[in-house]
Amino acid sequence: MVGFSRRTFLKGTASAALLASASGARANESADVIVLGAGLAGLSTALQLTEAGASVLLLEAKERPGGRVQTLFDLPGRPEAGGTQLSSNYRRFVGLAERFDIPLVEDSPMQRDGPPELYIALRGETILPDAWAGHALNPFAGPLAGLPPWALPFAAMGRGNPLPEVASWRDPAFAEWDVPVSDHLGWTSEQLRLGFGINPGYGASAYNQSALMWFQILKAIAEPGGRLLTVENGNQRVPDAMAAELGDRVRFGVAARSIASGPEGVEVRTMDGSRYRADRAVITLPTSALRTVDIDPAPPILQQRGIRSLPYNRVVRAYFVPERRFWEEDGLPPSIWSDSYAGRVFALRGGGGTEITMMQSFITGRAAELLDRMPEAQAMALVQAEIERIRPAARGALRPAAYVSWGSDPYAGGAYACWAPGQITAFADALSAPHDRLIFAGEHTAIRARGIEGALESADRAVETVL
Ligand SMILES: Cc1cc2nc3c(=O)[nH]c(=O)nc-3n(C[C@H](O)[C@H](O)[C@H](O)COP(=O)(O)OP(=O)(O)OC[C@H]3O[C@@H](n4cnc5c(N)ncnc54)[C@H](O)[C@@H]3O)c2cc1C
Repeated sequence: MVGFSRRTFLKGTASAALLASASGARANESADVIVLGAGLAGLSTALQLTEAGASVLLLEAKERPGGRVQTLFDLPGRPEAGGTQLSSNYRRFVGLAERFDIPLVEDSPMQRDGPPELYIALRGETILPDAWAGHALNPFAGPLAGLPPWALPFAAMGRGNPLPEVASWRDPAFAEWDVPVSDHLGWTSEQLRLGFGINPGYGASAYNQSALMWFQILKAIAEPGGRLLTVENGNQRVPDAMAAELGDRVRFGVAARSIASGPEGVEVRTMDGSRYRADRAVITLPTSALRTVDIDPAPPILQQRGIRSLPYNRVVRAYFVPERRFWEEDGLPPSIWSDSYAGRVFALRGGGGTEITMMQSFITGRAAELLDRMPEAQAMALVQAEIERIRPAARGALRPAAYVSWGSDPYAGGAYACWAPGQITAFADALSAPHDRLIFAGEHTAIRARGIEGALESADRAVETVL
């Protein structure tokens, strides 16, 4: 790692000057660098800068580290609420797990062998995977007819990927692909609804997501040799260990409300009225949360457009403890892919065991949009009623355990960024450019990797910029 030049940062008497800045008000604390957000991007940035010799303050709005990586440690099987699947190609994340001696295990939420684990519940019909290819509700012919709905986006967008390598999605030469998935595929509306409208992995429909984003996703996940992994006993153990290493440099329950950057340095004001000053700030908030924080001076126009308009996927996860093995009563596979407000209902075998410990509804797209407009108790009751409607054997067998909405979380505002058509070309570069003394990081600023590994990639770039 590049050595950290202490002289470039304000220490000792210099930080005393920072403490009493031009505004006249005294800061509660100061450091060389303030990092905002203790998700993986912020934790990795803070750890690396600390190791390089900088004094760092990491301000986190919530009372726990990890951000969009969250394990529900108190529930049977310790299910994940946020980032779930890792790849053995996640070099940085795997390195952190090794550093903190935290084992990674094969991810096997479903039984690999034996009878099917998942069936389709569509328009009131119960369809086993084997019966799907020739089913009257299947709008496809040819090879796509043989694929279950959840495999359609990957198969369709995987054909004819124009990107020579993953970073090319940011090359203006590929701007012609920054168009709606619907235009690119030319499918019928029923085909688009099935592939991109029901239980979408990204966005809420094929009309509002960029084909270029899909090409990047597929290039990023198509790296050879990737095995699906998860952290033994919970993904959050890794950010927990990173935060423990940082000790009292991390401040929990401290939500930034404004960030000012000027010749004197950076001043962050928080919701509780405190002020923190530093020479630079690294901001790792998703733009969906950053939208509520005032930045002064305002970033350039394209960067602002990005911060204000980059869409985030809505994801709701509702957890139920099965009190009976109702799947043995109706003889259907335990998990369901449905077009109901219960979305996909996964039977989870937690803690590496073979017993089903939890039923989890994973709800995205329009269904999640509706749930996010309801009070939580009402939304949870609707999800349960929907499961019982499509699967009568589940009546009286589900004990509600937890409800997590990422769209309603004020410090997340969604699960992950989903680029709308034209946005990559318009502002992907501008969004992650440094502005005055502010450096932007986080999953949405990554170029090569996505999700968890993307957050860590963005931290490496932020650290390089600071140093
Ligand atoms: C349901 C779900 C499923 C996912 N599945 C996967 C998956 O299978 N594989 C994968 O690789 N990725 C997955 N992801 C994505 C992955 O979890 C994220 O991309 C990654 O964790 C983002 O890290 P980050 O550090 O960029 O942002 P975050 O983790 O969001 O960190 C930002 C931090 O900033 C804090 N914050 C926000 N506002 C303020 C404020 N005003 N002041 C101070 N702090 C603030 C937040 O509380 C948060 O801790 C999933 C995410 C979700 C939600």
